[in-house]
Amino acid sequence: APAGRRRGRFAPSPTGPLHFGSLVAALGSFADARATGGEWLVRMEDLDRPREVPGAADDILRTLEAFGLYWDGTVAYQSRRTALYAGAIKQLEALKLVYPCGCTRREIGLGGLPGAEGPIYPGTCRQGLAPGREPRSLRLRADGPEVGFSDRVHGPQCQDVARAVGDFVLRRADGLHAYQLAVVVDDAAQGITDIVRGADLLLSTPRQLRLQACLGLPQPTYAHLPLVLDRSGRKLSKSRTDLPVTAADPLPALLRAWAVLGQAPPPAAPEDVPAFWDWALTHWDLSRVPARNCLPGGEPTNG
Ligand code: GLU
Repeated sequence: APAGRRRGRFAPSPTGPLHFGSLVAALGSFADARATGGEWLVRMEDLDRPREVPGAADDILRTLEAFGLYWDGTVAYQSRRTALYAGAIKQLEALKLVYPCGCTRREIGLGGLPGAEGPIYPGTCRQGLAPGREPRSLRLRADGPEVGFSDRVHGPQCQDVARAVGDFVLRRADGLHAYQLAVVVDDAAQGITDIVRGADLLLSTPRQLRLQACLGLPQPTYAHLPLVLDRSGRKLSKSRTDLPVTAADPLPALLRAWAVLGQAPPPAAPEDVPAFWDWALTHWDLSRVPARNCLPGGEPTNG
């Protein structure tokens, strides 16, 4: 980004239409960037081709436009950027920070202690593949000092990556580059200065900071926004129909997402989407964003 100008982004995975939970992330990152005259980019995280829903990427973009969430430049598609990720892996290989792993998911499930996000890799292939094993995935050596950062919403965070998640996958057994790698490479390549996204990624952030350090990349700031959960504490699923995020009638969902972010409501009902944004961008206040997840109406969840 040009000196002094902030640059944010929204990075949806095209696995379905934009749902209310991702609208909250889109709106928060947009408001945070635009309120200070910064730039806002959209990046389609479409690396996981098997999980992609045909037409979802275009559908998401049309919905963003209907909500007045206009982006700068052209949309980046991760599926077209694999050379960048391969280059980063080469760099990490040269530093001897990665190693091939021949373990299956099942074996790790049996041998690994439970971690923040599933079993912790027990390090079976760290000193080399066991005899007769074929390399499957590629892992980063996660040991190192504890990773600390200050989240703009959640405050000081600290994680021992090796203990919390272990050596993590950078390239999967099916050859696809992992989200953790791609997101770090892209945020740096696109000059993102301020990352604003859902709190489901708070525990991923130390892995991303570790990768940034290994690759010599600048560290952006982070703000993790509340997740919208249902009454049983599950992330709102894309199939939920009681919270329509429809291009045809954007204002109700826009106002509800604004409230979920702890922002004061406009003094009078805005006439249309541009009128909402005219008012909203002069009133955005990140310090009001709650750290707690919430229900669709904005009420905090229990626990
Ligand atoms: N693609 C991720 C998602 O849809 C978001 C990644 C990010 O914002 O870092 O949950």
